[in-house]
Amino acid sequence: MKHALVTGGAGFLGSHLGDLLLKNGWRVTAMDNLITGDTANIAHNAGNPDFRFVQYDVTNYLFLPEKVDLVLHFASPASPIDYLQLPIQTLKVGSLGTHKALGLAKAHGAAFLLASTSEVYGDPLIHPQTEDYWGNVNPVGPRGVYDEAKRFAEAMTMAYHRYHGLDTKIVRIFNTYGPRMRLNDGRVVPAFISQALCGEPMTVFGDGSQTRSFCYVSDLVEGIYRLSQSDEHDPVNIGNPREMTVLQFAELIRDITGSKSEIVFRELPVDDPKVRQPDISRARRILGWEPRVPVEEGLKATIEYFRPRV
Ligand code: UDP
Repeated sequence: MKHALVTGGAGFLGSHLGDLLLKNGWRVTAMDNLITGDTANIAHNAGNPDFRFVQYDVTNYLFLPEKVDLVLHFASPASPIDYLQLPIQTLKVGSLGTHKALGLAKAHGAAFLLASTSEVYGDPLIHPQTEDYWGNVNPVGPRGVYDEAKRFAEAMTMAYHRYHGLDTKIVRIFNTYGPRMRLNDGRVVPAFISQALCGEPMTVFGDGSQTRSFCYVSDLVEGIYRLSQSDEHDPVNIGNPREMTVLQFAELIRDITGSKSEIVFRELPVDDPKVRQPDISRARRILGWEPRVPVEEGLKATIEYFRPRV
C-alpha cells in the first residue's frame, strides 16, 4: 500500500482529500496542529488501521519513520478572517512549513503536491485567470500574508523541482465549499448559509457585484488526486468556472433554504478581488477533469450539513 502524508489533514480540504486517498487504497497520515482544523472532520476514520492522525505543527522539523510516497501540503489558515487573525502563522506555514514538507518529501523520495490558491492572482487584471497570468497582489495589504506566503511556496516548490529533481505538483485552488467548512470561518458560504438558516440578515460586502466561482469539494479533491498522479509540474487551476456575483449567490442561498432573511450591505474588505473565475483548460486537457456537481446540488448538501450545527 502506498502511504500519503496530508498536512492540514484535519481541515476542510485536507480531511476530504484523506478520505479520497483511503478510498483509492492509500494509507494516510493526517498531520494538523488544529489551530483551524478540527478532529471532528476525521473522527469517522478512528479505528481505521490505514489512517493515522498526528497533532503537530508542520513549521517545525518533520520526521516520519515509515516510508512516505506522497506529501500533500494543505496546512494553512485559509479564510480571510483566519489569516487576518493569524497573520504570522499564515506566513510561517506557507514558507517554513512548505520548506519542511518539501524536505520530508526529498528525504523519502516522495512526490509532493502544494495546495496553492487563486489568491496568487490577487485582484486580477486578466479574466478568467489562466495559469500563465502572474497576478496583481498587494504584498503589504491584509491579504498579503496569505497571497505572498503561497507565492513563496510556489517558488520554493519549483526550486525543489528544478534543483533537487523532486517530483512536484502545484494546484491553484479556487473558491470551494461543502460539508466540514467551519461555521464561523467568515467565508461567504458558511456566513450566508448560517444567516439564512437563522433568519438573520445576509451580509453582502460592498455592492455585491464582485464575482466568485464556487466548486463543490468532491469535484475539487478528485481534480487534485488526478493531478497528484500526473507528470505535470507547472501550476494547474482547479475550480468551477460557473461565475456569479456575490449578490446573486446570496439570493440563490436564500431561495434554496427558503429563508426570509433580508439582504444587507456592509463595507467591502480591503483588496477584496473584484472578479474571480478559473480558466480550467489545462486541467481539462492534462487531467481529463472538469467539475460535475451543479452549484444548486452542492449547496443543498452543504445546507444539510450546516442545518443541525447552526
Ligand atoms: N462576502 C460577503 N459576505 C460575507 C462574507 C464574504 O459578501 O459575509 C464576500 C467577500 O467580500 C468576497 C466573497 O464574498 O467578495 C467571497 O469571500 P470569501 O471570504 O468566501 O473568500 P474570498 O473569495 O474573498 O477569498
